[in-house]
Amino acid sequence: MYRLHRLLRPNPANLFLARLLERHPRLNRWFTEAEKQVKGAAFGCRMCGQCALPATGYACPMTCPKQLRNGPCGGVSATGGCEVYPDTQCVWVTAYERTETEGRVSDLTLLQRPIDHREWGKSSWINYWQGRDEGLWTEDDGLTRTHLVLTDLRAGGPQE
Ligand code: SF4
Repeated sequence: MYRLHRLLRPNPANLFLARLLERHPRLNRWFTEAEKQVKGAAFGCRMCGQCALPATGYACPMTCPKQLRNGPCGGVSATGGCEVYPDTQCVWVTAYERTETEGRVSDLTLLQRPIDHREWGKSSWINYWQGRDEGLWTEDDGLTRTHLVLTDLRAGGPQE
């Protein structure tokens, strides 16, 4: 999937396609339905429209019953089972196993920002190709920035 993702990166051709699809609602619906079928079968995609897969070992965080995008809740069982559906493995355990296999565990430290819920049901590929996903997660774990903001606040300084 990581190799396939490299092929799907934004480029002039898929940017052209994304803009074309948005200008033609019927084509957009067909394309979005195809994405739903493909990603639904492959990842259990729920069509949130803002795809986190490249940073989660291709384990969809929206399949978590709590839709947690920044790691597991405190209810994961000792065997890695979901708190809500004990017979299924926590998606974050799956994410950890996959990223560990690929030597990409550090991906899981990136801070996933809240999603825009108006994007539900839309094509995440169309969003991605048009650069709308660029701020979905931070470049690092976000802790340094949080620390700086807190330090500024304590000092009564700027909050930028
Ligand atoms: S688009 Fe959203 S729901 Fe679909 S696979 Fe990506 S993160 Fe999961």
